[in-house]
Amino acid sequence: MTARILVVDDVPANVKLLEARLVAEYFDVLTAGDGQSALAICERTPVDLVLLDIMMPGMDGFEVCERLKANSRTAHIPVVMVTALDQPSDRVRGLKAGADDFLTKPVNDLQLMSRVKSLVRLKNVSDELRLRAQTAHTIGLQELARPDRPDEPGNILLVDARASSQERLVRALKPIADVSVISDPQAALFEAAESSFDLVIVNANFDDYDPLRLCSQLRSLERTRFIPILLVTEQGRDEMVVRALELGVTDYVMRPVDPNELVARSLTQIRRKHCNDRLRASVQQTIELAITDDLTGLHNRRYLDNHLKLLMDRAAARGRPLSICITDIDRFKYVNDTYGHDAGDEVLREFANRVRATVRGADLACRFGGEEFVIVMPDTTPEMAAIVAERLRLAVESRAFPISRADTLHSVTASLGISSLRADGDTPEALLKRADMALYQAKNNGRNRVVAAAA
Ligand code: GH3
Ligand code: MG
Ligand code: MG
Repeated sequence: MTARILVVDDVPANVKLLEARLVAEYFDVLTAGDGQSALAICERTPVDLVLLDIMMPGMDGFEVCERLKANSRTAHIPVVMVTALDQPSDRVRGLKAGADDFLTKPVNDLQLMSRVKSLVRLKNVSDELRLRAQTAHTIGLQELARPDRPDEPGNILLVDARASSQERLVRALKPIADVSVISDPQAALFEAAESSFDLVIVNANFDDYDPLRLCSQLRSLERTRFIPILLVTEQGRDEMVVRALELGVTDYVMRPVDPNELVARSLTQIRRKHCNDRLRASVQQTIELAITDDLTGLHNRRYLDNHLKLLMDRAAARGRPLSICITDIDRFKYVNDTYGHDAGDEVLREFANRVRATVRGADLACRFGGEEFVIVMPDTTPEMAAIVAERLRLAVESRAFPISRADTLHSVTASLGISSLRADGDTPEALLKRADMALYQAKNNGRNRVVAAAA
């Protein structure tokens, strides 16, 4: 992981110390000795994380944080406040100022690295989301261009053996999440796999059970491997924390648990989970957009070009039949010329609906271009394909197509050509060509009919 980190502290020795540790982990480090220059650096250069001292002459850390969060150009940069251990009230003020996390002085290496990495990961996914939103906005896909949304409440699964600590932790987390509590770690694994949690908090307080076992199982199950895990452990159990982080545990807090710290870390993880979920959904959406025809929602030609070969190869390998049907709306130009292009689009949409309603789930329906559609039917003999095509022809002819800007309901018909996979070697181009020739025949023979290509 590489990231640019800004270290802000008025004591040069503190800056040097943090800088050396971060550089050793290959982070790119910038430094500032006061609040003003920290703000100036964030304005001018991309920074992925700010480590911010509180006690500084002039502008203190709270004010720096508030200003960063109030500026839309810097609000997305995570801020870690470096607080004194004996000042718990600093954490409350830090949270109010918009800080994302805390570190206590003297800064322990393990804490420094896990906090920094956790927040840099969060920033990476949210940056990616912001970038996508921008691109989507530029190319006019408004539905993908949703800006950062306010925090939605999270769902937390708390795994904790003791009633007293359960109660304390639930009370702390209530304001930011719905919390489900389970004492039995094995039952917790089931629960995590069954429901959709944004965070699992594992309190390492079991009598004869190794909590890392649950963590590792959560990491290996398909359904739970993306859920962040926060480990609650005793002071001084550094070796356990190191092992936990190696296993993929996302973050940890030490007992006695400071409620503000727990809330800050849980929020970071929940945000990251939500960002990740949205990112995955957006990748899915992008893929779907690339292979979907805008107007009708059917697959587009690009998808057909890629997928038809696969379906043909599979049919050939299994010795199964496969047929395709090309259909073209009759005299469609007349619809456009008489009722306008928008009415033409309405007809195309309704035509696609009738195609969808006619074919089986396993069939592939595509808009091939203009008013031409292709249906690929795996496991379908020429005879069965002729029946399906006839059913579609009838579905088009028998009911009028409603057009919103005209009181007349226009009658529409279509011509259809079918062809089937040849056992002695075939290609998508040849199969499509034969169906197209059959379609041409259907047009020539008077339209509104089905013609099958010669075998
Ligand atoms: P034929 O029975 O021989 O198929 O006659 P036709 O009028 O349907 O065929 P032609 O290929 O001459 O015209 C097709 C028309 O389809 C012309 C084109 O403007 C129209 N068209 C193609 N794509 C769209 C579209 O997305 N929306 C609308 N409204 N019209 C389209
Ligand atoms: Mg036509
Ligand atoms: Mg045409």
